[in-house]
Amino acid sequence: MTFVALADGERVLRFGLLPTLRATKVVFGEKEVDYIQEKKDEDSSFYAILPKPLVKGQKYKIYIEYQGNKVVRDEGGGNFAIGARTSWYPSVNAFNDRATFDLTFKVPKQYTLVGVGKQVKEGEETDFTVSQWVSDVPLAVAGFNYGKFKKQAVTDEEAKYQIEGYATSELPNYLGDRLKARIRDTEKIDGRPQPRMSKTEGMGGMTPTRLTEKAIVESQNSIRIYNLWFGELPYGRIAITQQPQPNFGQSWPTLVYLPIISFFDSTQRWQMLGMNNKLTESLQVITPHEVAHQWWGHVVGSATYHDQWLLEGLADFSAGLFLQYTEDGKLDKYLKFWERHRETALEKNPFGLRPNDAGPIWMGLRLDTPKAPRAYNQIVFSKGSYVLHMLRWMMYDRQTGDQKFMAMMRDFVKSHYNDNASTETFKAIVEKHMTKQMDLDGNKRMNWFFNQWVYGTEIPRYRFDYSLAPGSDGKVVLKGKVTQSDVSPNFKMIVPVYADFGKGIIRLGTIPVTGNTTEEFEVPLPEKPKRAMINYHYDVLAH
Ligand SMILES: [Zn+2]
Repeated sequence: MTFVALADGERVLRFGLLPTLRATKVVFGEKEVDYIQEKKDEDSSFYAILPKPLVKGQKYKIYIEYQGNKVVRDEGGGNFAIGARTSWYPSVNAFNDRATFDLTFKVPKQYTLVGVGKQVKEGEETDFTVSQWVSDVPLAVAGFNYGKFKKQAVTDEEAKYQIEGYATSELPNYLGDRLKARIRDTEKIDGRPQPRMSKTEGMGGMTPTRLTEKAIVESQNSIRIYNLWFGELPYGRIAITQQPQPNFGQSWPTLVYLPIISFFDSTQRWQMLGMNNKLTESLQVITPHEVAHQWWGHVVGSATYHDQWLLEGLADFSAGLFLQYTEDGKLDKYLKFWERHRETALEKNPFGLRPNDAGPIWMGLRLDTPKAPRAYNQIVFSKGSYVLHMLRWMMYDRQTGDQKFMAMMRDFVKSHYNDNASTETFKAIVEKHMTKQMDLDGNKRMNWFFNQWVYGTEIPRYRFDYSLAPGSDGKVVLKGKVTQSDVSPNFKMIVPVYADFGKGIIRLGTIPVTGNTTEEFEVPLPEKPKRAMINYHYDVLAH
């Protein structure tokens, strides 16, 4: 490892290394040096001891030799669970500091290893495959996936991107066993044999090839949409890979891990896991969400845990865009997505607490308490993405559409390229691009918005009443009243008003509201609308 010291005087360097990986030799410069690594069940953190203090700005080289196990767990059927994703190598400041990597892997021939960066070499040595992976763009973390994979790949000429999919053809043991148990149970109830499924057919007759195709198409669409909205990625390649762990997905630079169940359809999930529709719904955007993390987490990182909401919020906001673009002009899934996020943020748990009551999203992981054990996950995804969603619809313009918001997001990526963003650096970008309508305090600052939605927990309630009256020249006048309540006297928001003329929804304008009050307005319309409404796109997170 070659590195530059950022501070003077360090004698002991700490590395992230899995306790079951045991160091055997550390060389600093040319000289073998001591290191500390207590027994794996004790204080097993790994430290290298340097012969003399580091000098700020100077370049150093350290060589670490280690060996061990427990990084990869065999789950059966050619499926391997990769653990220790940041500590399979001696890592320094994973996610905070970026580095280029040159990785060589040697694995048994029947298995495939998928690395980060670009594959520059592959060859065989007796019963092993040797592959080399190099990153020319600095990465926030390095990693790999591994299994008896079948590979498919497409090159998107338009996006200039290589998209690869990797899936196994057999179920891991735990799913195969569940499937057998479920078949046994149904046989007991029905008293007659059910159609048998082999381990492979357990995928419901869907071959991994077809499953991978779906993931590839979704990734390709995601990349095209996000390129347009956020600017292009530097990596040139992405591998969508399957992992046996069922309950989460993860995105490493150029490498996405998707839980095996995201490759199933809802019937298969029900058969194997008894999963209901709500859980299934949340899996529908897992691919676009994880692909979005290539931007949010890798090209742009977060400065501290306080700023983590921004990355998760952006990733889910991006997944919402994916739904909007892939629905063929309809907005059913898109609107349902935001309705579900609203419910997630505002629905009470068994203790009577809403995730939103746990605290401001800026508190990050500290939101989790015994009374709201999942508050962080629930609120950061849902309200975090709403913050972006609300900004988007505030910046929307009937003539130019989303151009202003897109310009802002591209500027955000460009100004934080391969760097970390904080809530305040993001706010500065928003203030640079904010529209006149957003300047509710008349000071070209967005304090009002961030104080309410990122550093605060207030949620407004709205009511909309309107009537239609004949105007001059056969026109129609819409007379409307927007009432905001459940807020403190200084709570401000911009509420968009829409009308449905039977051939699409038109945005008529926005009404600024401050405090618990009713704003009245009148707007002439060219013809009578079928109906008028506020917050058609769930533009404001509200009751
Ligand atoms: Zn995420």
